[in-house]
Amino acid sequence: MDHKALSRLARWPLLGFRPGPHPRTCKTCKQTFEGHARSDSCLDCAVRLAKSVAANYVSQESEMQKLQASNVAWGELHQKVIMQRADLHKENDRLKTLLKHGTDLIIELGQEVLKEYPDLTAALQSAKEHFDRATKVEYVLEETAKSRFPVAGDKVKFLNKNGYPDELRNAQLTFEPWVMYTVEACEVGAFNHFIKISGNWWNGVMFEAVKP
Ligand SMILES: [Zn+2]
Repeated sequence: MDHKALSRLARWPLLGFRPGPHPRTCKTCKQTFEGHARSDSCLDCAVRLAKSVAANYVSQESEMQKLQASNVAWGELHQKVIMQRADLHKENDRLKTLLKHGTDLIIELGQEVLKEYPDLTAALQSAKEHFDRATKVEYVLEETAKSRFPVAGDKVKFLNKNGYPDELRNAQLTFEPWVMYTVEACEVGAFNHFIKISGNWWNGVMFEAVKP
């Protein structure tokens, strides 16, 4: 086609092609073509490129429409979730109130029942006292068993602790923690007790009975 007629046909340049009388080499197909002095693409290559750009654009456009549609759907879903969550909160509050009233009611009922049956109240009170007393007795028995004073013939072990500093120092010069010693006698005072080992008296708190 005559380049002047071509010039009137469309707005140029088109992707590197522009009509003109000059021999040029196409940067894409390397063929010689007739075009404008600054044209670097033949018309065929420019059109091919334009078509592919257009096709690309169309596919991007439809992709975008799909995205917009899914965005709308997502927005609706989000809205629905928010509403459901609000409903759940309301339900939760309702349950909490119900539970609180229920608990109050049960406590009230319990007190009513105890008022109706004074014997039951007394029996419960008495059972509790018995239980407390039994627990106390058990405790005292245990403590007594632990602090039983040794008698002649018992075996004891040197604890290497307790006693006054002087007592402990003397005992450390005499006893070894891994040896068993035999008690010869025991004297119990109001706040302390002494045991006799190897002819001498020692503060009993520095020794521990060894089970036979
Ligand atoms: Zn070309």
